[in-house]
Amino acid sequence: MASVPSRPVAQAHSMTTSDLSALSRPMRLTVLGATGSIGKSTLDLVSRTPEQFEIVALTAQSNAQALAALARQHRAKLAVIGDENCLDALRDALAGTGIRAAAGEAALVEAAEIPADCVMAAIVGAAGLRPTFAAAAQGKRVALANKECLVSAGHVFTAEIKKSGAELLPVDSEHSAAFQALAGADPEAIEKIVLTASGGPFRTWTREALETATPEQALKHPNWSMGAKITIDSATLMNKGLELIEAFHLFPVSHDALDCVVHPQSVVHCLVSYVDGSVLAQLAAPDMRTPIAVALAWPNRMTSPTEKLDLARLGSLTFEAPDESRFPALRVAKAAMRRGDTGPAVLNAANEIAVRAFLDRRIKFLEIAALVEETLDAAERQGAICPASCLDDILAVDDVARRLAEDSLSRY
Ligand code: NAD
Ligand code: MG
Repeated sequence: MASVPSRPVAQAHSMTTSDLSALSRPMRLTVLGATGSIGKSTLDLVSRTPEQFEIVALTAQSNAQALAALARQHRAKLAVIGDENCLDALRDALAGTGIRAAAGEAALVEAAEIPADCVMAAIVGAAGLRPTFAAAAQGKRVALANKECLVSAGHVFTAEIKKSGAELLPVDSEHSAAFQALAGADPEAIEKIVLTASGGPFRTWTREALETATPEQALKHPNWSMGAKITIDSATLMNKGLELIEAFHLFPVSHDALDCVVHPQSVVHCLVSYVDGSVLAQLAAPDMRTPIAVALAWPNRMTSPTEKLDLARLGSLTFEAPDESRFPALRVAKAAMRRGDTGPAVLNAANEIAVRAFLDRRIKFLEIAALVEETLDAAERQGAICPASCLDDILAVDDVARRLAEDSLSRY
């Protein structure tokens, strides 16, 4: 393989100064997006061995009651609600506990900055960028669920990780799997990284049937229980496109060495092929508590209640090629990955608008990919797909892309 850039996860394999296994005290943990699917799974693990963790800060967007309940249960020092209108409710719910309450974007960033050994970055969407960057600047461990951060700001984010010396541990199940299958690998020896996709609820649907697919049908994921946005992304296969971009920034491989395959059972999460013909895969029941546990405990292992795999009972594992004509979002995402610069930031922003519009019944299922593609074309014409050197550049392009997507949307 030609020269491949070394990227931050490769650093994490060598675990030098900040090896968390060396901690002789509980791990100080902050959870950004504590009330979401990943946040709750993280805190579920914490609640099973509370003596091993000290919860520093918890955040949420608008559910003050749920946030307060988690903050009380885990004796957090700080609880931050994104929506400032919810601060009074949060304060009331935390009265008498001694837990500090705060609100707004600056407070979310502050939560990410308070000294912690590990920050779980589990806010959904580009809203997670600033707090996740702040967590990276701490120079400790970032357990990254917020894939949009790597998709939109991959080069800038990985540069920040490098600069601060932080460890980046992927939480996305496919990337956690690749991380484990790659441990210690010489980048020159890696031939291919293949992410698996469940295929979502519409895997076997015809294109005609997809025309009329409803939000309710799209929200019924066959294997995984996740937040609404990623569940829709799984139904369109945009999620796999976002994950290819995520993998490109995490692992030392070129675009051509990244691929995906549909695997309806969601048991094999990723396959890494080496130049000698060996293929290493990671298998686990589809439960995010396994990759979360990997990210929290690495290079050690912690117990997780994930159902144990019983291959004899499963009987067979099957694989098929993804169909980009029925799932055009995958093709659109791959094109944005190859385009590079701020192409993936435009892709991500447009997709967030499109998913919201689909959930609000403003567009049809197949129009999600069409709207994203139109936005990419419009952004290219405007010169908005360009190199970016800092987070503010990315956020400015994110803003432009959202406006372009809203413009297109008004014509649907
Ligand atoms: P979710 O919708 O269940 O939860 C999102 C969390 O972020 C909530 O706590 C919410 O309050 C908070 N939040 C939402 N908007 C916010 C805003 N504007 N500002 C601040 N906080 C905000 O989402 P999820 O399914 O837990 O996903 C979280 C992230 O993890 C996403 O980036 C997703 O792609 C990624 N991920 C999730 C899964 C999964 O199984 N759920 C798997 C892989 C990766
Ligand atoms: Mg995934």
